[in-house]
Formats: sequence, C-alpha cells, structure tokens
Amino acid sequence: MHTHPSSIHYNVNVSSIAGHTFNVSLRIENPDKNGQVLTLPAWIPGSYMIRDFAKSIVTMIAQDDAGQEINIQKIDKQTWQVKAVNSAVTIKYEVYAFDLSVRGAYINDEIAFFNGTNMFLAVQGQTNKCCSLTLLKPEQESLSHWKVATTMQTKMQETHAFGDYWANNYEELIDHPILMGEFDILNFSTSGVEFELILAGGHQADVKRITKDLTKVCQHHINFFADIAPVNRYQFITLLTDNAFGGLEHMSSTALMYSRNDLPSLSDAGHMTDGYRVFLSLCSHEFFHTWHVKRIKPQELFGAALDKERYTEQLWIYEGFTSYYDDFSLLRCGLITQSEYLKVVAQNLTRLIRNKGRFKQTITESSFDAWTKFYKQDESAVNNIVSYYNKGAILAMCLDLLIKNKSDKDYSLDDVLRHLWNQHGKLSIPTPVDVVQRFVETQLNLDLCDFFHSALYSTEELPFTELLERFGIKCHFSPRESLDDKGGVKTTSPIKIEFGAQIKAREIGIQITQVTEQTAAYNAGLQVGDVLIAVDKWAVSKENLIAQLNYLPIGQVTQLCVLRDKKLKQLTFKSTAAPCDSINLEVIDQERTNHWLGLPANTHEK
Ligand SMILES: [Zn+2]
Repeated sequence: MHTHPSSIHYNVNVSSIAGHTFNVSLRIENPDKNGQVLTLPAWIPGSYMIRDFAKSIVTMIAQDDAGQEINIQKIDKQTWQVKAVNSAVTIKYEVYAFDLSVRGAYINDEIAFFNGTNMFLAVQGQTNKCCSLTLLKPEQESLSHWKVATTMQTKMQETHAFGDYWANNYEELIDHPILMGEFDILNFSTSGVEFELILAGGHQADVKRITKDLTKVCQHHINFFADIAPVNRYQFITLLTDNAFGGLEHMSSTALMYSRNDLPSLSDAGHMTDGYRVFLSLCSHEFFHTWHVKRIKPQELFGAALDKERYTEQLWIYEGFTSYYDDFSLLRCGLITQSEYLKVVAQNLTRLIRNKGRFKQTITESSFDAWTKFYKQDESAVNNIVSYYNKGAILAMCLDLLIKNKSDKDYSLDDVLRHLWNQHGKLSIPTPVDVVQRFVETQLNLDLCDFFHSALYSTEELPFTELLERFGIKCHFSPRESLDDKGGVKTTSPIKIEFGAQIKAREIGIQITQVTEQTAAYNAGLQVGDVLIAVDKWAVSKENLIAQLNYLPIGQVTQLCVLRDKKLKQLTFKSTAAPCDSINLEVIDQERTNHWLGLPANTHEK
C-alpha cells in the first residue's frame, strides 16, 4: 500500500517541444550519508545492445532541503555522486528526447513518449524501495487535451490522467513505458484481462476489426498457458508512423511502432493483407513475451543490472519459441488459413537457407554475441551470423514436430512452454541453459540428445525437410523469380542466372547493398557501394537486371562496368545457374499435416 509520496519521488515535465526535452526532478528523502550515487541504465531489457542512455542527460544539478546547490561528481559515463549532506536532496536534470523508437524517448507536437530506462536515475542502495512519480500536465493551452497511457499503478480515479503514479521498486518503475499526448484508446477484454489498444500518430484503420482479431490472439495466449493470466490489465502502446516497425515487451504492456498504411481499412472487407498479418503477428509476439521472457527468464538476465552486457546462450528459447508461436497462434485462432501459414513458414525457411552465416555461427553463439553482432549488423551479416529469431523459430518448429513424432502425438512443444511457466515463470525460478533438453529427456522421456547437440552447438542444417515430410508436407526448392522474391510461393518463371547481391535503384545503374559469398557477384569482385552501370555493353537498371543476366548462357564470361568511388572499373562475371534458394511448401497428406497444425481433415480454408 502507498499513501504518501515515497522516499524516492520523481517529477516529469515536458519542458520544450521545440527543444525535445523533459525536465526530471528526483527527490531522495534519505540519501546515502557518504554521498548518494546515482546511475542510469546502459541498456533496456529486451533489447540487447549498449545504448548509453545517459548521453541524453543534458544538464544536472543537485540541491539540499534548503535549496542550496550541492556538488555533483561524475564518476563514469552513467554514474554520478552527490556530495554528502544531512538532508533530503533533489536532483534536477534535463533529458533530450528525439529518438522515435520503442526503446527510446521522444517528444514532438503530438506525443511525448519515454521508457524509464532513459529517464529515471537509479538511487544506488535504494532500488528495492517503492518509488512515486508525478507526471505534470503541460502548461500550454494547445496541449490541454493530452492524455496519459501507461500501466504503471495509480490511486487516481480518473484514467489516462496526468498526476501521481507509483511502482514497488526501480525494476518495476522502468518497466512501464509512458505515452503522453493525442491518441485513441480502444478497449477490449477477454479471460478476465482488460486490454487497451493505444493508437498514436493518426490513422484511418478499421479499429473494430483490429480489436476483434486481437481479442482472439490474447485469448489464445491466455488459454495456451492454461492458467490465470499473470496480468489483469495490458496495453498495446502503438506509435504509428508512415513506415516503421518495432516492438518491445514489458511486464504489463508493450511499446510498438508500425506503419499506419499497413493497418486494415474499412474498405478491405476482411481481406488479410501481409501488412495486417505482420501487425497481428507483432502483437501476438509481444503479448506472448508477457509470460515468456518477462516472467519465465534466463538465469543470466534474472534481476540483471543494466550497467553493462549480460551474456546468455538462451535467446533461442525466448525469441525463437516466441517467433514460432506468434504466427502459429494466428492459424490456431483462425485469423489466417493453413495455406497462408505455410507460406509464412516457407518464407522463414527461405530466409534461413539464403543466410550463409548459418554455417559459421551456432544459434547459441548468436544469442551470446547478440550485443555486438545481431544488434550491430552490417553488410556482412548475411555471410557471417545467424539470427536466433529466424533459426530459433525453425528450431522450435523442428522440436515441436520431433516431440509429436517421437511421443506418438502425446506431447508437443506446448507442453514444454507450459512446464516453463509452471516450474519457472510462475515460481520466479530462472531457467538454466539446458532447461528445455532436461525437460524433454526427463519428463517427456524422449531422447533428443543428438538433435539438441546438432541444432544448438553445431552449424549443421536443421532437419526441417524430413520432419515436414513426416507430417505430410513437401518442401520444394526452386530458383527465385526476382531479386525481391521472399519465397513461400510456387515459382512460375524462375531466374536462370545467379546474381548473388542485393541492390537498390540509382538514377543511373544499381547500387550494391549486400554481396552473398561464393556467388557469381562475389566471385566477380563486386563490393558493397559499387554502382553497376552495364552488363557487357548494355546499361542496367533495377528493372532490367534479371532480364540482362538471363541473356547470358551458363559458363559465359562477361564484363561488368562498375563505378567504385567514382572510378570506372571492369569486372569479370562468369554466369552460373541460379541456385534453388526459394522454398515453398505443399501439403501432400492433409491427414498427417493435421497432426501438426491440428485442423480437422476437411478444413483447408477458413
Ligand atoms: Zn521478441
């Protein structure tokens, strides 16, 4: 319970929209007698990269109870020490906020959004104490209609109001993103949980359809874990822009960024576009995290300090399994059809087999090095690293199929997740690195030792082709149809000659943005940044490149005309047959497929 402002109290005020700044004040009733140390996190849970949020603190002063300024000593990039005093101290600081991302802080004329990691100094030695927060209403008349969206606790009767909020401790304080400004609030509820879909940034979407569909997704996840939901209130805080994508999970909310153009409109008449499916999948993914990573947590991240990197090999369990269930649950609640789902799976498989980095980095290494590799990708990523999301989701699928197959359909990956919830998440017991293997071996009595060893600690290909076949699904491999081809559908006019690079259109020619190793482009010596202007003597554009290449007989040697650093170069290109790196899936035995996808035999489409 909490009736008075706690001994640690923060005030937040939008001080300048033009300057994109918040004013924060922090009052500490009982500062450390030896001089209070204050720190700001270097990273935000769920996003494994050092971001040095303290760089956005512009100015800082400290005052004692009498209003006298006291000295602050900076200890390192994110640590300060206030001179010892015999009274309460107040720290006043200004935070620059112009990072429009789910993990940032941002102010414009319509919204002010922030994560606590960017804003709230931690009071060393007192992070277990209750904290209170006052969000001050902007004084400008033009902002008088602004509201507040957050799941932080409050005693106020009025909802979405400026005023007083509180958290049990610092970890909780920084786990409730806060949105102030203009936005729509769409309410829905299921299984005893009150949901709010918050839409900021303007849109013309069919919100009735979205809330109806989200209700099904949320209900699915709550039923999936077969227990009362760990929250009674949940917010999807969505920042809509012209073209953005992102999501970050929190204990009872998620911050999302999405393209307003990809939400369904009233004229869509129920049609499922790729853009809308991906939105539902993103919401599904983040809400699944409410259990899986926010409460079921890897040992290495459990209560981890946020001052530096915390390494874990377990992200394949957390992001991989979540990525498997985000789309699978859309099928299970009837929002997409079996063929739509299999197209998504085939696109994920295509992405994996085009990634040469899977032969150099294991999935556990990918997890461990997320901080410096996955989160700091450059043009070499396709050749050098593997994604614990992409490979993790396919690993999850393989594991699901293996468990079903070996247990004669008695068990599935669902049982693994329920075990993780009941024996770990619910009891606040972090997961050890071999938690999945141990459960499968000792509780399900299945010997999957070889699979785990190969999938987790080697770069061998996952056995998806044979496993899918056991469930009545054939993997077809064919050359892509275009450079933008993502796979997933049967190719009708496959390309004949391999290129091997990603490109973007230029006014003249095309610019190379990525070169896949051991391909024709790589062997010709094309490099990222090159502007390819002609193949043989013929000018190329993004539109005609494939046609130009298709003229070349296999084995022919041709000159490429390239501008590199504005110097003309001739490169020798040897044409080779296009590889079969597009996958599409065909159901050849629906009855067996049903043992995986769980649909009645005659249900092909919704
Ligand atoms: Zn995730």
